[in-house]
Amino acid sequence: MNVLEIRDLSVDYLSGGGAVHAVADVSLDLRRGEILGLAGESGSGKSTLANAVARLLRPPAAITSGSVVYRRQDGSSEDVLALGRKELRAFRWKELAVVFQSAMNALNPVSTVGAQIDDVLRIHRPGMSRNDRAERAAELLQRVGISADRRRAYPHELSGGMRQRAAIAIALALNPEVIIMDEPTTALDVVVQRDILHEIRALREEYGFAVVFITHDLSLLMEISDRIAIMYAGRVVETGGARAIHTSPRHPYTLGLLRSFPRLHGPREQLLGIPGTPPDLRSLPPGCAFHPRCGKAMAECSSELPALDGDVACLLNGGRGLEDAS
Ligand code: SF4
Repeated sequence: MNVLEIRDLSVDYLSGGGAVHAVADVSLDLRRGEILGLAGESGSGKSTLANAVARLLRPPAAITSGSVVYRRQDGSSEDVLALGRKELRAFRWKELAVVFQSAMNALNPVSTVGAQIDDVLRIHRPGMSRNDRAERAAELLQRVGISADRRRAYPHELSGGMRQRAAIAIALALNPEVIIMDEPTTALDVVVQRDILHEIRALREEYGFAVVFITHDLSLLMEISDRIAIMYAGRVVETGGARAIHTSPRHPYTLGLLRSFPRLHGPREQLLGIPGTPPDLRSLPPGCAFHPRCGKAMAECSSELPALDGDVACLLNGGRGLEDAS
């Protein structure tokens, strides 16, 4: 059962020089309790998409079309894009929480981490006693691997990994159904990164929330995701189970991403990277936006926009994409 349904969502950045199409016609489902990885290079639209879903976009960004529906377990649903200010306040934290890349920027530097959890509980659970809130803050911190006595610590007194864990604890405060994690481990070293990935999976097993996990590092997503969506130039170009994407990618861009990052497990491999740079979103190449960088491009790729037909948006093999990823 889906908890989020995104349909034909488009986001533009409106500037004097014309609209920048940051997200174009994206349709994605997030299933209850799954970890959906969202990958792509910088500028592929993944963070803009997440911010649109969480209603965190600020001008000049604007949603120009599409819908986002949130479905509760009791069968009721919410049109996220139509929520008023007050409803949105209740929706965020309680139903959907966001963990950003830099916890140092996301956390309040002049408030202890315990006080920041307390703030969320005090505002959203007005009937909760002070003692219960303190207990809940201690429990949440312990659950993410921070000892309860550190609740009196300020963000600058914690390591980068601890700050990220504290940000996750705050996101968990009201047991949301969906957590969007935007590059939550990017600034951390590999060992801490892996610890936090394991922690997120364990928390998901315990609490049952669904996660949209955003990163440019596809090998990292293989570690944590159930399903993966690949974005390029504002569009989803491939979706699939993490194993299928790993073993038999069908979009040449997915294959390029897989060859661009060292794997966390397995033998060393030569990294090949993707030739060229991501396109300028103000003037995308006609046809498939990836064609100037694609080693498999055919004549029609520069004029025909491939639709996300099934799980891949590529004209190869009659729209089925790569059949052999060698
Ligand atoms: Fe490459 Fe053509 Fe497929 Fe685009 S549609 S990824 S250019 S083969």
